Amino acid sequence: MSSEKNGKPEVLSEVRELSVTYHTRLGPVSAVDRVSFDIYKGEILGLVGESGCGKSTLGKGLMRMIAPPGEVSHGQHIFDGEDIMQYNERQMRDFRGRRVSMIFQDPMTSLNPVQRVDEHIIEAIKVHEPGTKKANALERAKQLIERLGIQDRRLSDYPHQLSGGMRQRVMIGLGLVLNADLIIADEATTSLDVIVEAKLVDQLKQIRDEFGVSILMITHNIALVAQVADRLAVMYAGRMVELGDIKEVFANPKHPYTQGLLSCIPTTKIDKTEELYKMPGEPPNLTHPPKGCRFHPRCPHAMPICSQKRPTLKEEGDGHFVHCWLYQDPELEDEGLNNEV
Ligand code: SF4
Repeated sequence: MSSEKNGKPEVLSEVRELSVTYHTRLGPVSAVDRVSFDIYKGEILGLVGESGCGKSTLGKGLMRMIAPPGEVSHGQHIFDGEDIMQYNERQMRDFRGRRVSMIFQDPMTSLNPVQRVDEHIIEAIKVHEPGTKKANALERAKQLIERLGIQDRRLSDYPHQLSGGMRQRVMIGLGLVLNADLIIADEATTSLDVIVEAKLVDQLKQIRDEFGVSILMITHNIALVAQVADRLAVMYAGRMVELGDIKEVFANPKHPYTQGLLSCIPTTKIDKTEELYKMPGEPPNLTHPPKGCRFHPRCPHAMPICSQKRPTLKEEGDGHFVHCWLYQDPELEDEGLNNEV
């Protein structure tokens, strides 16, 4: 669970109005549109949504890893009190790896196939802590790898000699050896079989408990995230539409998109004659997103205002935020954000 100060969760990362835009020949694509949220110290925050909703782009945006023709076009990422959007390249190199580590679906794309596991870890230590002696770095690598449940003899293996789950644990280890505060796991379990996936998800929880690290778990698998996350954030078409305590969001989903997503999860209680809910329509083309609420063409509760004005992310209950006109009075909303589409 997240650490607390004066009865409130301690904030590690404050994301404010963050936007990512891709400049394509067909026009600007607003892949992430003014998203705001906090990540607490020591929490696991699940970030879910359909493919193409912007969740991975948001993860990369937090680390300023958006390649041209994309860019972080607006907003702040205040990490431990400092806006990393103001960092120069040298500061960013230190930030990536030392403070925040990112793991992807296929670790083979991040690990060097001709470097042994110990060489990866020693190199990471020496890049960020140049004065460290090789013997000390090797000792740290041994201790860490054992804490992650891998025998130290595997340090001399090459990445292809490890199982998929072990490779992901090595990637996690590369962040932990530098005492990273935040691990962004982007579909990190997707390529694993269900048994290894379940094990790794359990280990993520253990790692959070043992190292006190925060984890942003990006996945399309809402049932999987329910097993480990403390809070859940739901994205749709580049916007965050709901955020709250995981149990609360599952028990009382407020946004019509979240309600639809949860209805799509098969359960053992389902009547065999009943058809599983299927969300109507398709996600929008973000080159020309719908005006107002981007979900309105698919929403069973859409009202005239929904296609005119964008709602804001409003708190509806303790720490439960929702981005929907069903919970807001347009007459009471201030000008500004709501007039934008
Ligand atoms: Fe549906 Fe309107 Fe809410 Fe969007 S703002 S989710 S269209 S009710």
